[in-house]
Amino acid sequence: MSWPDGKKWVYSITYDEGCQALLEHALPIHRRYGIPGHVALVAGQIGVPRNCPGSSYNGMMILSAAEIRMLRGEGWGVSCHSMTHAATTEANAEEEVVRSRKVLEDALGMPIRVYCVPGDMNSYPAARAVAQRAGYDAILTIHDDVNSPACDLYYLHRVPLHAQYPPPFFSEFDPYKRIHQAIDRGGWIIDYCHCPMPDKPIHPAKDCTTQQLEERFATVRRLGGNDVWLAEVTKVADYLLEQSRMAAPDLP
Ligand SMILES: [Zn+2]
Repeated sequence: MSWPDGKKWVYSITYDEGCQALLEHALPIHRRYGIPGHVALVAGQIGVPRNCPGSSYNGMMILSAAEIRMLRGEGWGVSCHSMTHAATTEANAEEEVVRSRKVLEDALGMPIRVYCVPGDMNSYPAARAVAQRAGYDAILTIHDDVNSPACDLYYLHRVPLHAQYPPPFFSEFDPYKRIHQAIDRGGWIIDYCHCPMPDKPIHPAKDCTTQQLEERFATVRRLGGNDVWLAEVTKVADYLLEQSRMAAPDLP
């Protein structure tokens, strides 16, 4: 199993919540490095200030449908990050995971095929149980690892790109995080953060600064050269789905 066009490994990045400030602070860096982004959106909160009590991002403006379509035109992707960002349970999965996809598709006028688990991994099992029936092809988690080409699309690992990592294991930003592992294994890195800001992250264990984002992209390009496929998550999922169909043509 190999990546398209002779590429040896893959780099993607996603931003949870889809804050409007990405346009000012992250988009110019994406354009400079030729790396597509991806926003994970709370379906019930498009183009309004974020309203998830207790969130570090509460009150920040979320991208509008028009802004999201503009990003999509530049190669960015979109996933559904639940209906309300509540912890997903068996009791609310129909609303938070299934109906949210339809609500987001109607709000944006585009297909939504990836689900992004909100909060912590405790929300994963209830989301996983309904994801396929809901029409999703993949699930983004916050389990930090490199994905292999044979990965389970319904359990995609993501690498937190944060200024610091919470105790008890104090740890600082590392622009090389998992890159050599991805090179050695021919793997797929999906970075994630929320909304990088200049000089000081909004929350050190949930974000990096714009300087760190740029350092990360520069490191990916420098170490990746022509070998790295800089790709949006849905594009990579499509490629892997196509590969598995070709390997087992009798399956639907
Ligand atoms: Zn979130």
